[in-house]
Amino acid sequence: MGKLMMYPRSAHGKVFMARGDGGDVLVIDGKTRPADHEAAEYLRENFPFTAPVPVLGRERSFGVGDRLGIAAPGHVRVFRKYDAAPVLAQQSMRELKLTGRTYKDVLDAATFAVFREDYQDGFGADGDHLKTMDEVRGALDLGFSMITLDCSEHIRSDGGKAELNEDLRRRYLDRTFMLEDGDSIVFTEDDLAKAQHIYGEAVRYAAQVWWSFFASSAYRAELEISIDETATPTTPQQHFFAASELKLAGVRMATLAPRFCGEFQKGIDYIGDVDQFDREMRVHAAIARHFGYKISVHSGSDKFSVFPSIGRHTRGVFHVKTAGTNWLEAMRVCAEKNPALYREAHAFALKHFDEARAYYHVSANLNKIPDPGTLSDDELPGLMDDNNARQLIHITYGLILSDPWLHDQLCRLWDANAELYADKLERHIARHMRLLGVPERVRAD
Ligand SMILES: [Zn+2]
Repeated sequence: MGKLMMYPRSAHGKVFMARGDGGDVLVIDGKTRPADHEAAEYLRENFPFTAPVPVLGRERSFGVGDRLGIAAPGHVRVFRKYDAAPVLAQQSMRELKLTGRTYKDVLDAATFAVFREDYQDGFGADGDHLKTMDEVRGALDLGFSMITLDCSEHIRSDGGKAELNEDLRRRYLDRTFMLEDGDSIVFTEDDLAKAQHIYGEAVRYAAQVWWSFFASSAYRAELEISIDETATPTTPQQHFFAASELKLAGVRMATLAPRFCGEFQKGIDYIGDVDQFDREMRVHAAIARHFGYKISVHSGSDKFSVFPSIGRHTRGVFHVKTAGTNWLEAMRVCAEKNPALYREAHAFALKHFDEARAYYHVSANLNKIPDPGTLSDDELPGLMDDNNARQLIHITYGLILSDPWLHDQLCRLWDANAELYADKLERHIARHMRLLGVPERVRAD
């Protein structure tokens, strides 16, 4: 064992974390052990603040997917300053596959990070976009504090209509459902037949998951219902229908993610009609209040032009998820600190763009990206402000990280520039907070 460098904030009595030659270690009572899964379990048992807790019940919660397991120092600074509860561990199955990580890795990384940073305000862990009962059980057994149930495989987007039975007619036809602020929802027979066709099966499935895992107190976890990955936007009326049917089935979700109008593409600002978004957001938010859950906004990275609308209409009660933007800031560090390495990664991404496209819907036009070979070193970080380049680098993260040479070089770079990365994340995520209207914490000191 070579020299150990203690993380100063990790000192908790006789336990602390340190950096050794071969990576982080946990030191307990003078004995050094690797920072592995058992060590993480030890911390969660002995230092409860290192275990995830349900956070969706707080007014504002904010997911920051840390695909690299290195973003927590920057994230923690943001949540020390802004009054929102962080979900530090948040990965979908797709992200696990593309980064070669497991849910154990993701959770353990968050545990070590909050211990190193001494962040004691509580954080959530999100089994994001899970589809099967086995996936849900797996994440819950590990201690994840929320599950985002992806109902997309039970949502029918083929434009069909259901046969309406008497119960449905009685529940929804010839009625006006009043919401706050004068908004109201009415259904024609056609609306109702479509809504039942699209969401009927998804509601049944969500209820099955609810009653299997969440209805009892076996797990201390919250449920988010995701109906956002669909072919068409969720109309306010369809949102009302799904919420009402879920309630009737006994499902008590903490959050629900509709698919909003316009496009929420990864890592770039909102594309679409901001006024229409604003009008529909007002109704979506009123529906969520009516039924008693929070709106969840997925693909929330960099949606600066609609954040004020989300903050206002939800009255500051929301959940927002980001992921890709944290990775892009890491690549900005690369462009600044090692231009040659950035050029290599960029060329690699261009070569593999079509492959990566299978996983994500983006509209990037590669022809519009300036050739990094013609840019000066100083101009290179500016690529991370170009939407086409952002999307290129965003969707190829899994491939870039699976190239052993690039992976190794990038990790060394991030390691050597940890402070700069934390700075950039702090600034960038803080901009999300400000536009969403998240208040700054009142400091006791
Ligand atoms: Zn989603």
